[in-house]
Amino acid sequence: MRLILLGPPGAGKGTQAQHLVAKYGIIQLSTGDMLRAAVKAGTPVGRQAADIMARGALVPDEIVVEIVAQRIKQPDARNGFILDGFPRTVPQAQALDRMLAGHGLALDAVVELRVDEDALLRRIESRVAAMKARGEPVRDDDSPEVLHRRLSAYRGQTEPLIAYYRRQGTLRTVDGMVPIGEVATAIERVLARQRKAGFAPRSRGAVRKSKRAAAKKPAKPKIASKRASKIGRKSKSRASAARRRVGAARKSPRGARNGAGGKPRAGKRGH
Ligand code: ADP
Repeated sequence: MRLILLGPPGAGKGTQAQHLVAKYGIIQLSTGDMLRAAVKAGTPVGRQAADIMARGALVPDEIVVEIVAQRIKQPDARNGFILDGFPRTVPQAQALDRMLAGHGLALDAVVELRVDEDALLRRIESRVAAMKARGEPVRDDDSPEVLHRRLSAYRGQTEPLIAYYRRQGTLRTVDGMVPIGEVATAIERVLARQRKAGFAPRSRGAVRKSKRAAAKKPAKPKIASKRASKIGRKSKSRASAARRRVGAARKSPRGARNGAGGKPRAGKRGH
């Protein structure tokens, strides 16, 4: 399953992504987290991004697209991923479409978390105040002025993606103002419907490739029934192992962030 969570800062993307990681065993790719890691590590990308991020502006498309392109090639992304914070501009979305088509893949869903902006500002400000009161580190870009700039970057550069994905037929909108559990249930419902509909049609390139492969290869002989039932048993035990893994991940969902098993970043408030 490959999906995008779309919504302004504070809409709850991070929280919902963690829930989906635990539920479906796919990885979460947060470009914000990846960029913050690059800043912390002092890499060339990090040095370029640091000031831009602190101002609440967007890092140039080429940089972010390259980071994502490298990341989705990793073996742990093969089963699927949730993109949180990417794409954030139409050129990024177009680059993602090309990237996926190059791997013979497509998006299964784009879930928009729709929220009320005033309530959002209040939500973030009170969360930041609570973090400060607890003595927890707060992100540089969480000050009220920068927050306004992040919201206006969202409005100007990211919101057009809603129309972009609506045109593609992949957009599904969920009310992000209800309690966290209810948002999660609504997203699950959307995904179940998508799954029922057979998820995304494969890209034309992939279909062409598999047609060519089918023309070359002779059809596989049918699996004899005894072997088939053995395979059935095997895949059942694989499924229960996967469920156990998901259960373990649920106990420590943060560990699955960005699939790196890394530490959660300081100051992320899970949105
Ligand atoms: P938020 O908490 O506002 O949703 P993130 O944690 O996703 O933000 O990202 C923090 C900052 O990282 C953004 O304000 C921006 O500067 C940069 N950033 C993250 N993802 C992208 C992207 N896809 N394109 C450009 N800049 C990005």
